[in-house]
This record gives sequence, structure tokens and C-alpha cells, in this order.
Amino acid sequence: MKVDLHSHSTWSDGLLKPAQLVARAGERGVGLLALTDHDETGGLAEACDACAAAGVTLVNGVEISVSWGGHTVHVVGLRVDPAHPSLSAGLAKLREGRHHRAEAIARGLEKAGIEGSLAGARAYVTNPELVGRAHFARFLVERGVARDLQAVFRRYLTPGKPGYVPHQWAGLGEAVDWIQASGGLAVLAHPGRYPFDAAQREALFEGFKETGGKGIEVVTGSHTADQFDVYARYARRYGLLASSGSDFHGASESRRDLGDLPELPSGCEPIWRCL
Ligand code: AMP
Ligand code: MN
Ligand code: MN
Ligand code: MN
Repeated sequence: MKVDLHSHSTWSDGLLKPAQLVARAGERGVGLLALTDHDETGGLAEACDACAAAGVTLVNGVEISVSWGGHTVHVVGLRVDPAHPSLSAGLAKLREGRHHRAEAIARGLEKAGIEGSLAGARAYVTNPELVGRAHFARFLVERGVARDLQAVFRRYLTPGKPGYVPHQWAGLGEAVDWIQASGGLAVLAHPGRYPFDAAQREALFEGFKETGGKGIEVVTGSHTADQFDVYARYARRYGLLASSGSDFHGASESRRDLGDLPELPSGCEPIWRCL
């Protein structure tokens, strides 16, 4: 049975509705799927309803935006209770902050000569409460300012570029607390993607572990094959469980499709044994 513990729907910046995502997972042989929308759990009910017909077991998930060490990192919560008050209040506050950030992104792009990007991004928004850089990126590709999403992010939406706005997300301990309070397991998402040196990376793993973090993504669509082994070693060294997820957003946008993941390197403790 295939496992995929990181995916997105139209409740954040994915392209498929939860029921479509679950159906696709089932068709692709995924037996255990986590829907992990950014700062949002609203899609879980629809995903859950679609599971029986698709032969998929759903893990209630979320991907929380966190500020740590002057950068943004992502913490995935698995088996969370979306109704838990501290989790739902914390996520609502993050979504609220996204509106203000979107206005600032649009101002930055306007200074770079790109007008109308807030309305343009909103045309791609599929959950009025959740606006993100991916929605701006789709608009910027449509506008023709760059060839594809990668190029748009590189030129406009990453630190130092005109449409990048430093933003205060949740604290690391805060996000882990919300996840744990709601009965979930906290997993550090795609650790290979952050621009940290070895010392910062180790500080992040230590801090994450101290606050109650349980696992890290070892196999993810964001890692190269070499990084699978690197992060398998980190998981062992820090006594963290290993997770695996495609981070699927849509067939036209994602490097890996649902379930399109190699096995964990040997010596890893799969986090799904605890779910
Ligand atoms: P946000 O949480 O609004 O800052 O947006 C983060 C999301 O932007 C990620 O989850 C991806 O969906 C998307 N993203 C970030 N960097 C890239 C990139 N280089 N290429 C394509 N999508 C990206
Ligand atoms: Mn995303
Ligand atoms: Mn992420
Ligand atoms: Mn993700």
C-alpha cells in the first residue's frame, strides 16, 4: 500500500477539490493519504466523505507556516483534530495575516511595474480566506512576466525580490503546541528546502525536537535522491520519525504526483506506524 502524507487542495493552493484529490489518490494506489492544506483544515470534511468510495484512508492534516531564524519553515500536523480551539484559532489568525501580506505583495509588484496583481491573484484564489504566493505566481505567468512558476518565484516572489514581503507567521513552539494539543504529530516539512547552513539546520532540528516535534519529511517532492539519504541520517541522529509525502498541488505544477514516492531509506522509522 502506498502512503502519501503531504498534499494540497483548493482549500489552499492546490488545483483539485478535496474529493478529486482523494479520487486521484485512490486511482494511483495510495491507501493512506494526508490532506495538508496551508494554514487551513476546511477541506478535511469533504476529503473524508470521498474516502470510502476511493478506498483511501484519510489522515487529517495541515501545513502550518512558521517563522524561525528569520526564515519561513513549514510544520505539518498529522492526525490533528480540526475542531480543537487552539488549533483552529491559530490557523484563523494565520489566514487573516495572509490578507495583509497579499496587499503588501501587490504594492511591491506595483513598484516593479506590475499593476493589478491583487485582483489578478484573487482570480486564482479558491478559498476566500486563503491567499498565497502560488495565486500571485499563477497570475504572473498569465501576465507573461516569466515563463513558468519556477521562474516567477525566482524573479519576483522570493526573498529580496519585488513581490516578496517578510512576514511574521506562527512561532515554532506555538505551531507544535497547536498540533499536539489537538492530538496530532508535528512533522518538519521538506527540511532540505530551507536556505540554512549545517549549524542552523542542526539548531532547527534541536529546537523542533525540544518543543515536541515528532518527525521530519525524509522523502518529499522537494528533495533530491541524495537528500533522501541526508535527511534519513538526520532523522536517526535526532531520534525523529520519518515521513513521506509528494506535496502534490496539481498535475501541471508538481514534480511528483500522488503516491509517486520511493520507499524510505533503510533504518528510518515510518511515522505512519504511529497514526
Ligand atoms: P505561501 O505560503 O503563500 O508563502 O506560499 C508557499 C507556496 O508557494 C508553496 O507551498 C508552493 O505551493 C509555492 N512555491 C514556493 N516556492 C515555489 C517555487 N519555487 N516554485 C513553485 N511554487 C513555489
Ligand atoms: Mn503550496
Ligand atoms: Mn511547504
Ligand atoms: Mn505543501
